Amino acid sequence: MANVVFDGVSKVYDNGFRAVDDLHLDIRDGEFMVLVGPSGCGKTTALRMLAGLEEISAGELIIDDEVVNAVPPQKRDIAMVFQNYALYPHLSVYDNMAYGLKIQKIGKAEIRQRVEEIARVIGLEDLLGRKPKALSGGQRQRVAMGRAIVRQPKVFLMDEPLSNLDAKLRVQMRSEVSRIQHELKATTVYVTHDQVEAMTMGDRVALMRRGLLQQVDSPMRLYHAPRNLFVASFIGSPAMNLFEAQLARSSGVLVAQIGDQVLQLSPEAVAEPDELERYVGRTVALGVRPEHIEDAALLTDAPSERRLRGVVRATEALGSELIAHLELSGRPVMTDEVKEIAADLDDSVIRELEAERGESKLPIVARFDEASRARRPARRGGGRDEPGALLRSRLRRGHRRPPRRADDPRRRGPREVLRCPPSVNARPWCPRRSPLDPIGAPSV
Ligand code: ATP
Repeated sequence: MANVVFDGVSKVYDNGFRAVDDLHLDIRDGEFMVLVGPSGCGKTTALRMLAGLEEISAGELIIDDEVVNAVPPQKRDIAMVFQNYALYPHLSVYDNMAYGLKIQKIGKAEIRQRVEEIARVIGLEDLLGRKPKALSGGQRQRVAMGRAIVRQPKVFLMDEPLSNLDAKLRVQMRSEVSRIQHELKATTVYVTHDQVEAMTMGDRVALMRRGLLQQVDSPMRLYHAPRNLFVASFIGSPAMNLFEAQLARSSGVLVAQIGDQVLQLSPEAVAEPDELERYVGRTVALGVRPEHIEDAALLTDAPSERRLRGVVRATEALGSELIAHLELSGRPVMTDEVKEIAADLDDSVIRELEAERGESKLPIVARFDEASRARRPARRGGGRDEPGALLRSRLRRGHRRPPRRADDPRRRGPREVLRCPPSVNARPWCPRRSPLDPIGAPSV
């Protein structure tokens, strides 16, 4: 296996478009590196440059201490697995896996030994005689991986290899691919636009935006210490709530004014309290993850200065938890980064957010415990969840935007107020970790 270095690598296409800009990335021997980011951020271009399928405009690409900019693809000793794995339909699983080795004129005995060994690792040993049409989608994908693995290349490249599988199989294959990769200790670069895939599979994750690397870190560091608003909003599902807050000092304690409410920021609840000092008196972007907000009805000893009040606009009971869509008075953060991630779902999300911002409505998503009784307040004629409030989470799950109803309930005033404390400084009533991540001043 090998290490791979992108040393200031850029790609400018013939039309002048800069798809990858000065990429510095050091991929260690045996590491599972995931390139993730919204559509068009340049991750496939980076992968194709590594494969030798795309010319490098600037910088150096190094595999095992050798600059490979001018080395043709077939001499780079790299194997690729794509979304569309083309298996030969008339060949058995064994012959599909052995095909590349036969071309390399490797002896029959060695081919048999390599194919059988890898078939065992990836759980195909009982299927070697079958033709692809007699395999499930997941099994076919494993054959495609096996075909790449038996070649024993220096580096594996995978470009959205699971995106053709149905949701359940994708989850199953996620852990399969990770297991196989760790068993083989094979240096792997894996491209996906799915942040859940990135977080669950990668040893490290490189998050890109518009051709620029934003942060490369372990999944947990990306989650707990995002370097900028883009990383903060991209990582996490549902996404982090980001809202404008005015930072102030009250009786020696830092507080954040959010709309008409004040939230105390205790030193242990914020990542870098000293850093925050210079933002006192200014507007900042305050980020709270949905999983760090709990229903105050379940946390009766939560101090009042750590509670916020909001109106329930919709709820989604998922069995193990309750996703609550709340509305507070305040303004969502609408920077370019946030808009770009929203646009990756659907342009209508931006319009939705901008309208809410104009009306000083702050939509918040919270993941309450399943015991929560939070519900949209009932109205005469029956309460209905608000379509707009569910929009983002539905889009994330691939649903189409629900049509705006003539009797859109947002035209009516709030009827009931929900107890909604962020789980700031949660101990002892909430085991979750430092929930408030002040990100910095928004460019609004
Ligand atoms: P996706 O997840 O949609 O595949 P990506 O992050 O892999 O996105 P790339 O395929 O690397 O994105 O493309 C990066 C940018 O480069 C895109 O804006 C794309 O339109 C542009 N691009 C890709 N190929 C070319 C080309 N041959 N000429 C000009 N621009 C190109």
